[in-house]
Amino acid sequence: MNSLDDVFAAGHNQTIRERLGLRPIINVSGTMTALGASIMVPEAVRAMAEIAPQFVEMDDLHRTASAVVARLTGAEAGFITASCASGITLAIAGAMTGDNLLAIERLPDVTAGLKDEVIVQIGHMVSFGGNIDQAIRLCGGKVVPAGTVSVVNDYHVAEAINERTAAGLYVVSHHTVQYGMLSLPEFAAICHAAGVPVIVDAASEYDLRRFLEQGADIVIYSGHKFLGGPTTGIVAGRKTLVRAAFLQNRGIGRGMKVGKESIAGVIAALEAWEKRDHEGIRKRERAALDLWQTALADAPGIRAERVPDPTDNPLDRLLVVVSPESGYTAAGLARALSQAEPPVIVRNHEVERGHFYLDPCNLHEGEAQIVAGVLKRVLDADPRPDYALANPRKSSRSALEWPD
Ligand SMILES: *Cc1c(COP(=O)(O)O)cnc(C)c1O
Repeated sequence: MNSLDDVFAAGHNQTIRERLGLRPIINVSGTMTALGASIMVPEAVRAMAEIAPQFVEMDDLHRTASAVVARLTGAEAGFITASCASGITLAIAGAMTGDNLLAIERLPDVTAGLKDEVIVQIGHMVSFGGNIDQAIRLCGGKVVPAGTVSVVNDYHVAEAINERTAAGLYVVSHHTVQYGMLSLPEFAAICHAAGVPVIVDAASEYDLRRFLEQGADIVIYSGHKFLGGPTTGIVAGRKTLVRAAFLQNRGIGRGMKVGKESIAGVIAALEAWEKRDHEGIRKRERAALDLWQTALADAPGIRAERVPDPTDNPLDRLLVVVSPESGYTAAGLARALSQAEPPVIVRNHEVERGHFYLDPCNLHEGEAQIVAGVLKRVLDADPRPDYALANPRKSSRSALEWPD
């Protein structure tokens, strides 16, 4: 293992995990920040290593990135920032300040005459690990929630718009309320009728064109989710708005700065995305789901069923419904899997409802089989672990105990 190529070809990084004292987990939960997001594509890893020792003129690198982002999204321009969350803050800041350089330096203080209100449907006010409303408030924006948690009507948004409205923010995600909200074309039509730009958080979406086509003026993706790039945010949209957002790097964006290695890495990931064998990957993912469904087929108290992605990403997951005859609660089974050898981390955000999901989109070669084996072993375990039937309440304790 001398050359970088050998290291990258190995695919997984068992060695570095061992060196850093980390458990060799298998991720069947999705592209989770808490697990390191995604398997970075080799093209991105190579580009990052290649540019690391070079000097570059950063504005030119950003220009190159803009052209690549534009080509893939159909946008007029784009730029790269530290994350989707920072992209949201910068896009909103840009909608507030335009290219007023003094106003940019003064944020989060809002100078006289700046528009600062941002309309969000209440069912979109989610937490993705951080709260979306804080991404707005960070740049001095004022959150204006529209409608109710279960129903948002056109007049809720139309009546929320006034002369201080800087933008409408629309979130596409499994985190949002999945019914009763306005669709993006509906939301955009109302905003555009009043001259208000629409910013779309599409952090975890596959489709790089759809949201701009449906009326977004700016769309923001995570580089480190489905794209398999380094931790980055990709901001794409109308040139004046993208420029205004980019200019925030002279202000509040400084602390969200992205380095040459991440820009080069995400460019490579975007170019690899264009050539990716999407159908081949889907086939591998379906084979993993079939394997797991078979492994669970005879387990008493377990029902496993393939379900589509809630926001139409071309991806199915295995829904695992856990009833007491299994000897586990869903939370107890998820925990047992996470403590197995090797640990298997499932998609557990709905675990209190008695189910979790197995997500096949982040597997290394051979891991689907290992997961099937772990599922069988944990379901055959005799005796069950003492927490098997627990249904734990949410607790912040472990967060408050870091780093010990
Ligand atoms: C992951 C996610 C984010 C945050 O993305 P980062 O790039 O990690 O900052 C924001 N919104 C939604 C809907 C997400 O899923």
